Formats: sequence, C-alpha cells, structure tokens
Amino acid sequence: MVSAPPLSEITSLWSDTAASEPRFGKLSGDRQYDVAIIGGGYTGLAAARYLARKGLSPVVLEASRVGWGASGRNGGVVSGKFRLTFSGIAEGWGIDMARHMHDLGIEAIDHVGELVEAYGIKEANFQESGSLRCAHNEISLAALKQEVAWLNGVLGDHSTSILAPSQMLEETGSEGFTGGLLNTHGGVIHPLNFVRGIASGIAAEGIAIFEQSPVTSIRRDSAGLVLETPSGTINSRHAVMATNAYSDLTSATQSVQRTLIPFRSAIIATEPLTGKPAATLLCKGRSYTETRRMMRWFRKSGDRLLFGGRGAFGKTDSPSAFAALQKAMVAQFPELADVQVTHRWSGLVGMTLDSIPHVGRLDDRISYAVGYNGTGVAMSTLMGKYLAEIVTGNRPNIGLLASERLKKVPFYPIREPAVRLVAGWYQFLDAIGR
Ligand SMILES: Cc1cc2nc3c(=O)[nH]c(=O)nc-3n(C[C@H](O)[C@H](O)[C@H](O)COP(=O)(O)OP(=O)(O)OC[C@H]3O[C@@H](n4cnc5c(N)ncnc54)[C@H](O)[C@@H]3O)c2cc1C
Repeated sequence: MVSAPPLSEITSLWSDTAASEPRFGKLSGDRQYDVAIIGGGYTGLAAARYLARKGLSPVVLEASRVGWGASGRNGGVVSGKFRLTFSGIAEGWGIDMARHMHDLGIEAIDHVGELVEAYGIKEANFQESGSLRCAHNEISLAALKQEVAWLNGVLGDHSTSILAPSQMLEETGSEGFTGGLLNTHGGVIHPLNFVRGIASGIAAEGIAIFEQSPVTSIRRDSAGLVLETPSGTINSRHAVMATNAYSDLTSATQSVQRTLIPFRSAIIATEPLTGKPAATLLCKGRSYTETRRMMRWFRKSGDRLLFGGRGAFGKTDSPSAFAALQKAMVAQFPELADVQVTHRWSGLVGMTLDSIPHVGRLDDRISYAVGYNGTGVAMSTLMGKYLAEIVTGNRPNIGLLASERLKKVPFYPIREPAVRLVAGWYQFLDAIGR
C-alpha cells in the first residue's frame, strides 16, 4: 500500500479555545459501505449525514483529523455570498438564476443554524449578527449602493442597507471607511467547534468516521470501487470527493485538484482587548469585509480581534505575510499598535476560474463538491446535503453550482506564478484606488 505524506498539526485560536477534541480511530482491514466520502470537513461530514438519512451506509475517511483542512481553521464568517454579485449573476444568467442563487445563500446560512440546533453545538457560538461590507473608497461605495438598490428593487431583498461614514465609525471604531453595506443575514461561528460538533453528532447516529486514513488510490472492480488507505481498504458503490483545496494530499483526488487554484489565506488574532478598543472596535460582533480586491476581513471572538487576508504564496507560511497582515490591521485600527498578536495561522482556499463552487458527478460512481472560493462555511455544509441527492441519482436545483463535468484549470503546472501575477495586479489596482 502507498503511504501519504505526514500532516502537521495546526495551532490556531480555534484549537486553543476548542471545547473538546473528539477522536476517531484509523481504518483497519477490509470494509464495505455504500458510499465512501473522502475528506472530513463540512462538505464530507454533511454529505454523510444526509446519505445516512436516505438509508445508505456512508463512511468518512479523513487523512488527518476531522476539521484539519479549511473547516477547522477558517475565519468563522458565515455568509451566503458568492464572489460574483447577484446583479452580476443576473447580467450573465438572468434574474431567475440570480434569485435562485440568492435563495441558496440564505438556505446555506439557515442550514448552519439547523445543524447547530440538531446536534446541540452550543460551543459553536453561532451568532446571526449580520455582516458589514466596508467601502475603502468612493468608487467601492458607489458599487455597494448600486447593489443594495438592485437587491431591494429587483429581488425585493430588504435585508441590506447602506451605512454612512458616521455609522461606520460607530460600528467599526475605524475612521477609514467611506460607507458600508449592512446585511442582516449571516454572522460568525467558532469553526472548529462547529465541524467537531457535526462529527460527534453524526458519529452518535452510528455513522463511521476514520481519521489518519488518507485515501491513496481509487480503483474499480466488478462490484464498484476500491479505496486504499495505508491501513485498510474500503469497498463501496460510490465515492464522494470532499477534499477541496487539500485535494493534492494524494493522487487519488487528482481529478478535482486540477480544477482548483489553491490560494493561501492567513489569519492573525490579538490578545484579549481591554479598555476603549474592547468597547469601540467591531462592537456589534458582526463579520466585516473590506471592498479591496485583495480582500481583508475582520471580526471579534470574545474580546480578541481577528484580522485575515492573503497569506504567503507557495506551500508554507511566511513571517512576512503575517507581518503584512498586522501592518494592515494597525493601519485600519491604529489603537492596536501596541496590542500583542497571540495567534497566527493559515490555510488553503480552493479558487475556481469562474468564481463559483463546482458540485456534480465526475462519472457514474464518483461525485464531488469543491471550489468555495473562500466562502464555504455555510455553502460547503449545504452542498454536503445536496451531494446526497446527486449520489442517489437526483439532480437538485443548485443553480450555477451544478457542473456537469469538471473543467481543468488551463496551464495547471504554472498556476502558482499565475496566482502571484494576478495578486500583484490586484494589489496595484487597490493601491491606486481603482
Ligand atoms: C484561512 C481560511 C479562512 C477562511 N475563512 C472563511 C470564512 O471566514 N468564511 C467562509 O465562509 N469560508 C472561509 N474559508 C473557506 C472555508 O473554510 C472552506 O470553503 C470550507 O471549510 C471547505 O470545507 P470542505 O469540507 O469542502 O474542505 P476542507 O475543510 O478543506 O476539508 C477537506 C479535507 O479533506 C482531507 N483530505 C484531503 N485529501 C484526502 C485524502 N486523500 N484522503 C482523506 N482525506 C483527505 C483533508 O485532510 C481535509 O481535512 C476559509 C478558508 C481558509 C483556509
């Protein structure tokens, strides 16, 4: 049997504040299940839940620990947005599609609440506190105003409104914003407690989860599929690839890996704030994103402030990427100049060329859901649910997310320099205020 590369432990604010650390054994021997799910993040665990509800026997195989991928280390911003605006979707695919995508976003947020409720994941601390887009210049503010007018007028969505600079100062404690778009949908969550809570919940329902069990190969035999791990084998009728930006851990998931551009996203967290900054910065506990192309976002967790954005290029973290984030944080919130940063971590987001997640069937036996473009807490969990439909031969209406066949990223071998080039261009446009 082939072995998989060892995976390093992730230390983050989330791992340091986790409520519990459920452990699941390693696969051993030969076993038979209806559906083998590769990846123990939100997508894979949710898919297992809904497959079991259809009377099938799923098994989740995780290369490392449940939530080791993006699901356990993300920013915990719960949002129903896509990288494309809804008015942009309407321009490209019509108003009905825009409305459907908008509804999917709201369904995804509600679904997070349903899972928290169903499994009693109080420690996920899911707060539907809303989200605020913070305009960094007048051009961005004009675009936000246009989007709100469109959402109100065309989709009849009155959950969004524009905030004036004085309201932004009150909301964020920063004088650096020209205005903002407040959306009452969405909010924040403790992402690691959420993913571990789902895992514990489905395990209590009898669903099999194996950790430290990387799938190293998938082959076909007369009965279906054979998935090899270093310590055991699964025979199944169907497989699900729920490996997103971590699809390059082994060659077994190469077919989805080649459709994604992995992009490193980094997060820093401060020590607990005290005094005036604790009272005035991000006082409503929402999630906050900037309008720059190289987007930065921030939120509070308890009294700490989290600030996230682009991480290092390449396979590992770099101190300079974290230093750049801290500099950006202090530029936005000067009162944090002397505040200690206690946590620094990063992970990979799976970007797609069309900026939309891809969900569907690779062939008659393998399904997938990948490419959440950095906004997957709510959407990946919902797509896990819809994967159960796809596996069982149904065609759920998932709008633009439905991809009949995955398209490979052209020039895949040079994707890393290409990402640098695009990021550099975006930084230039941000710097000149365009
Ligand atoms: C730093 C960071 C911040 C983010 N912030 C936000 C945010 O605030 N809000 C938001 O909505 N989204 C955010 N995202 C994106 C979001 O976290 C992801 O879209 C979502 O977690 C994807 O879940 P998943 O289950 O599809 O993939 P993952 O959680 O990445 O899970 C994939 C799993 O597959 C496993 N795996 C890979 N290969 C194999 C194999 N061969 N065998 C077995 N297992 C395998 C990996 O170990 C991994 O655990 C962020 C992502 C990052 C990295």
